[in-house]
Amino acid sequence: MLKALDCVARLAGAFNRMRALDQHARQSSPSPLDSHPAHLDHPTQGARLRAIWLNVNRACNLRCSWCYVRGAQYSHRDEMSLETAARLLEIATPLGVKKVILIGGEPTLWRPLFSFIRVCKDLGVRTTLVTNGVRFSEDPFWEAYKAQPCSGISVSIKAFNPKSFRDATGTSNFEEVARGLRRALNAPDSSASVVFSGNDPVDLLETARFSAACGARNLGISPSTPAFHNRTASGSRASDPRAFAQGILAAYHPLHTLFGGQISFSLKLPLCLWPKDFVACLIERKQLNTTCQLQHRSGLVFDPAGRLIACNSLYGFPIGMMDSEFGDCMSLFDHIHSEPINKFYDSLNCHASTKCMSCPVQKWCAGGCPLFYSIYDGECMIPGWQQATERDDKEAMRRRCLCTHHHS
Ligand code: SF4
Ligand code: SF4
Repeated sequence: MLKALDCVARLAGAFNRMRALDQHARQSSPSPLDSHPAHLDHPTQGARLRAIWLNVNRACNLRCSWCYVRGAQYSHRDEMSLETAARLLEIATPLGVKKVILIGGEPTLWRPLFSFIRVCKDLGVRTTLVTNGVRFSEDPFWEAYKAQPCSGISVSIKAFNPKSFRDATGTSNFEEVARGLRRALNAPDSSASVVFSGNDPVDLLETARFSAACGARNLGISPSTPAFHNRTASGSRASDPRAFAQGILAAYHPLHTLFGGQISFSLKLPLCLWPKDFVACLIERKQLNTTCQLQHRSGLVFDPAGRLIACNSLYGFPIGMMDSEFGDCMSLFDHIHSEPINKFYDSLNCHASTKCMSCPVQKWCAGGCPLFYSIYDGECMIPGWQQATERDDKEAMRRRCLCTHHHS
């Protein structure tokens, strides 16, 4: 396990990515482990865990060209058992986790789905189902879901007509999917999201209009991110970062109008790619969501076998295993705050550019998703890019550490 971890850390270092750790995660509700002294020993340890992502399977009924599951070959055998899911819940909830996000593959194909939702309800844990909506078109599934619903549904909209759907997902059941989407999007606490490739803002707008016509009341927009298959980065479906930035700019006003402002952007790329006033407008309207749980250390992701992974796109690089590195809440806490794991996160969250260290929007940006630096050079994303040194990072960490102690 540690060998794999070393390998990712080296990989991470080679990508020269930048991250300033966002301290706002520490404002969440206290956990029983707040008094654990270790959380003050390291600048990245103050963040509170809020959620766990359970990657419950690798099976899917679509074949989206950008999906990280492609590398896992959609194996039906790769499925989390109900026992593993319940154990992970039992381990994580004493750390303050109040929310479980079910992802895959396609979690509606996970056989223990309804039993697990019941377990979560009994524990008072909220569940969010991240789904492509296809199974909601099946009457028996829809009836079973209504009888045992999640606290929320996040529906991923792939395209807007039969042709674009076939191009995006490799399948031709558009009409059936549209029926499922209408049901899922009209359920309480549903949200819609779309992955924008950056190739054509008109496609983004058409998909947004189709989402609204199916009942979406809001829309989240993000680029596809690179995934790692066999330890090498596979390119994201996004065209180059500047084209993506231009596409977002071109689509922004119609999107804002269509959803009455209920839109959010997980831009994931450095905010330098957009004009400052545009970024300021998104911040003011609370439409910007760029940093991720990996940067806050506010969440944990588990794969179907119960391995801890830093994010879905890094599923080939487990950083811990249930019943090996951790078996209860204390051993999980100690593991995720151990030196090798801290080093691993630091290597992913290191500064890409010295420019980021004093950047006024660092809190919202942190250099973007670290994984983009595996396929794009810093120069092509950050004007005036100057690679930060390890020393710069240590200095930034020292300052954050002093700040942590000062405010504690
Ligand atoms: S300089 Fe600022 S906007 Fe640019 S990548 Fe760094 S943190 Fe983001
Ligand atoms: S590092 Fe963060 S933004 Fe990038 S793919 Fe992983 S979770 Fe998403």
